[in-house]
Amino acid sequence: MSSRPILPGATIGVLGSGQLGRMFAVAARRMGYRVHTLSPAEDSPTGHLADREVTAAYDDLDAVADFARQVDVITFEFENVLAATTDCAARHAPVRPAGEVLQVCQHRLHEKTWLQRQGFPVTPFRRVASLDDLREAAEALGLPAVLKTAGFGYDGKGQVGLTAPEQLDAAWQEMAGAEAVLEAFVPFEREVSVTAARGLDGRFCHWGVVENEHRNHVLDVSTPEAPVPEPVRREAIEVAHGILDDLNVVGVLCVEFFIGPGDRLLVNELAPRPHNSGHFTFDASVTSQFEQQVRAVCGLPLGSTALLRPASMVNLLGDLWADGEPNWAAALTQPAVKLHLYGKAEPRPGRKMGHMVAFGADRDDARNRARHARNALGKC
Ligand code: AMP
Repeated sequence: MSSRPILPGATIGVLGSGQLGRMFAVAARRMGYRVHTLSPAEDSPTGHLADREVTAAYDDLDAVADFARQVDVITFEFENVLAATTDCAARHAPVRPAGEVLQVCQHRLHEKTWLQRQGFPVTPFRRVASLDDLREAAEALGLPAVLKTAGFGYDGKGQVGLTAPEQLDAAWQEMAGAEAVLEAFVPFEREVSVTAARGLDGRFCHWGVVENEHRNHVLDVSTPEAPVPEPVRREAIEVAHGILDDLNVVGVLCVEFFIGPGDRLLVNELAPRPHNSGHFTFDASVTSQFEQQVRAVCGLPLGSTALLRPASMVNLLGDLWADGEPNWAAALTQPAVKLHLYGKAEPRPGRKMGHMVAFGADRDDARNRARHARNALGKC
């Protein structure tokens, strides 16, 4: 496949049409690229900003081939795209990162097995395909533990916490016969992530170690420059570097970690695309994760990942609409707060509708300001 750069004016195809594709489209259009998006949705967050929105199922391979013929390079913003879709697209245009990366990352069991085989530190786990397997796995790993569906899960969906043997039957029933993974519960001290990028020439860069706070298994607050000891910071970045190299990633990939007792780093999950914990980079870094994805998939040199100012991001979930439209003006009375809304019409509870980034004198100040701005949304 040619490694000549795909220059501004060319068309980038995005599989998936959510907020990640939307922010990617902003970055791409700003640099003079055209953007086409394909997904089963209509009037989508990415479609609002794309030059062309194709509404088709991912397994409609005629539509996928037609889409791929009209673009110069293809990327994705949603990792649960079928292998048949990326294989079909790759016959007409380069797919970056390659479909093989998706196949490792879209299936928890494949991902964990791959990480373990490559020697990366991963949360202890067992494959579970029956109630007997679950009983054996619980015996081997001990309780508490977390049972997760093996395929197509995200944001804590398809997860059941287990604290006592009596809960195994009901938990297995919740999996509805689907293959699953039992993971030891990690009594973590912090959750952190490293969002990183790798160019077509193999060059690696990263946005440092970001501290992530979750609520109900969904990311709530992300603050760069996590306060972790220097050896932990170095190890997290080394692990991320090794993963991007070993997977031969061209593009952005995020590694989510638990920091367990004794500062032990364990990989929880990989996301082979820009990630929610990297949204702050849009406002706070010289090059955002979205611009970097454009640069990487187009074979251009990667940009600086330097942080411009201490910043923190808070997610805005649909729950904030419970009492009507949030008070945007109140949140924006702080001048150093940036509002991002994804253009989703229906604010369902738990649905990611937008985020805000606040700047501050230091990371704690930025984090307090971000939370304060979000609290102000509920005030009349
Ligand atoms: P996941 O969708 O697997 O990233 O899980 C979402 C969140 O659930 C994580 O960010 C953690 O806060 C929590 N969680 C998931 N797995 C575990 C585990 N094995 N031990 C402790 N907490 C977990």
